[in-house]
Amino acid sequence: MHELSCTKALFDTAIRAATDAGVHEVVSFRLRLGVMRGYVGDFILHYWRTVAAGSIAERAKITIENVPVTMKCGRCGEVYEASPDAGGWLCPVCGVEEGVIISGNEFEVTDIAVR
Ligand SMILES: [Zn+2]
Repeated sequence: MHELSCTKALFDTAIRAATDAGVHEVVSFRLRLGVMRGYVGDFILHYWRTVAAGSIAERAKITIENVPVTMKCGRCGEVYEASPDAGGWLCPVCGVEEGVIISGNEFEVTDIAVR
């Protein structure tokens, strides 16, 4: 359950942003979550209730945006969406596995709303 530690990190980020801004409550934020991270969004939401209980972020609404794995082929330059679960690392154009991952590792908070 590595979602627990990542949820704590998420909480720290949200609280720090709110404290820096001198606000009273974190209303909502968006989490960009790359599928390469292997985190289950529902677990993060579940742990959030525990981690944030009693804090100024207790009632924050969290929107999780899942970011797919995008790769760029090292041979032809094609940018394509890979599907790790299906073993889909191959370039759809030239069929080689020489791609570089250019997205899918995200774990970042964006669009924090506070008051
Ligand atoms: Zn290619």
